[in-house]
Amino acid sequence: MIQPQQPAPATATDSPQPAAASQLQQTAVPTTTPASQRAYQQACALMPGGVNSPVRATKAATGRDPLFIASGRGAHITTIDGATYLDYVASWGPLILGHAHPAVIAAVQQAATQGLSFGAPTTLETQLAAQIAAAYPSMQQVRLVNSGTEATMSALRLARAATGRNLIIKFAGNYHGHSDALLAQAGSGALTHGVPTSAGVPPQTAATTLVASYNNAHEVAELFNKYNEEIAAVIVEPVAGNMGVVPPLQGFLPALRELTSAHGSLLIFDEVMTGFRVAFGGAQQRFGIDPDITCLGKIVGGGLPLAAYGGKAQLMQLVSPVGPMYQAGTLAGNPLATTAGLATIEQLKRPGFYEGLEAQAATLAQGIRAAAERQGIPLQVNSVGAMLSVFFTSAPVTNLTTATTTNAERFTRFYQAMLDAGIYLPPSPFEAWFPSAAHTPEDIATTLHAVEHALSTLS
Ligand SMILES: *Cc1c(COP(=O)(O)O)cnc(C)c1O
Repeated sequence: MIQPQQPAPATATDSPQPAAASQLQQTAVPTTTPASQRAYQQACALMPGGVNSPVRATKAATGRDPLFIASGRGAHITTIDGATYLDYVASWGPLILGHAHPAVIAAVQQAATQGLSFGAPTTLETQLAAQIAAAYPSMQQVRLVNSGTEATMSALRLARAATGRNLIIKFAGNYHGHSDALLAQAGSGALTHGVPTSAGVPPQTAATTLVASYNNAHEVAELFNKYNEEIAAVIVEPVAGNMGVVPPLQGFLPALRELTSAHGSLLIFDEVMTGFRVAFGGAQQRFGIDPDITCLGKIVGGGLPLAAYGGKAQLMQLVSPVGPMYQAGTLAGNPLATTAGLATIEQLKRPGFYEGLEAQAATLAQGIRAAAERQGIPLQVNSVGAMLSVFFTSAPVTNLTTATTTNAERFTRFYQAMLDAGIYLPPSPFEAWFPSAAHTPEDIATTLHAVEHALSTLS
C-alpha cells in the first residue's frame, strides 16, 4: 500500500500568477513535479486510482502521473508545483468562458451570501428554465438535475414511461454518463481505461441496450425491423465527443429522426457536451433537428454541478409530481449552480461570441492539419465548432472502429511533448480539446508552435 506522506508545501496562495501568453512561450515547464507526485501518492491511498473520475488518472494514455491543480484563470491553469499551462481540458467542457470568469465568479460570490441550498423553489430555477427553453425550442419544459449522468438516466426513464417499451438503442463509442443501462460500449474514460462495458451491470439491464455503429443509420433501421414495437428510444451524441470528436455524417441525424418517428419511438439528443458549445442552441440548432428529449450539462452549469433534461410540455407532464415517472434531487436546481449557469449564458449571448470562438477553433484545426502535412505525420483533425480532436491515423474517423485506429504510442509521445511545452491537452486520444473564449490568438499561435515541434519529434 502507498503510505500517505507529508502534505505538499506549495499552496494556491504561494503559486505564481498565471503567465501571459507571450511569456508562456519562454516559460520552462518543470521536468519534475514533486508536489503533484506527493499529492498523488496521498490520494492513491485514500481514493481508487487517486481520483474521483477515471479520466483524471492520466498514466494509462499519457505515461505521466496527474498534475494537481491549484488555480485557473482565463485559458491557463497553475499546478501545485507552480507551473502554468495553457489549458484545453476546460474541466472537460463546462468552461467555455475560461477559468474564473469575473462575471461568473462575482455572481456566484453574491449568491453564496444568500445561502447555499434551500430544498424549496427559487426564482433562479425558473430563470434558468426560461433561458434553456428560449435557446432550445424542443425543451418547452425542463427538469434540473446535478450531472449529465442523471440527465441521461432520467431521459431513458421518461422515454420508457412515455412509450411503455423497454429497449434503448445507443451507439458504440458514445458516452452518456455511468448509469447501468448506458455503460454498453461506452466512450470517454470507460474507453480510455478499457472498461467500455462495465463490471457490475446486471445482464438483464445490459440486455435492454442495443448498440449500433455511429453514423450507420442502416444498422438502426435493421434493429427497428427486428425489435420494432419494443424500442423506447434512440439516444445519440449528435456530435460525438467521447471517442474523440466524430461529426455526424450528412443524413445520419435526419435518418434517426425519421426512423424513431416512423416506429413510435423517441429520439434523445445527449447534448451534455454539445449544448451551448457547437451553437448557442446546440447541435439541434446547428443541424436543424427537433429531438423529443434533450439532455444538457457541462456549460449549462457554468462550472458547477448542474444538468437538465427536457422536451415538449406534454411529454414532460409525465414527470412527478404531475405524472407517474419518479425522479428527484436534494440539491437539484441549486442556487449557486443556477446562478453560475445564468451568468455564463448571459456572456454567450454577446453578439459574435460563437463566430469568434469558432474562428479560433478553425485556425487551430487548420494549423494542426498543415503542421502534420509539413511533418509528414498521418493525422486526422476532426472538429465541429469549438471542439476538436486529433487522431494519429490516415483513415477518416467516422465511428468507434476507425477512432481506435489512432496510434496510441504516437499520441503518448505527442501528449508529453505538448505538456513539456506548457500545453495541457486532454490526457486521452479519445477526448475533445476545448478552446474557450479566453484563448487569445497568441495562445492559438503558441499552441501551433508547440504542435509543430511535437509532431517533428514523432517521425
Ligand atoms: C460528460 C458527458 C456526460 C456525463 O455527464 P456527467 O456530468 O459527467 O455525469 C453525458 N453525456 C455526454 C455526451 C457527456 O459528454
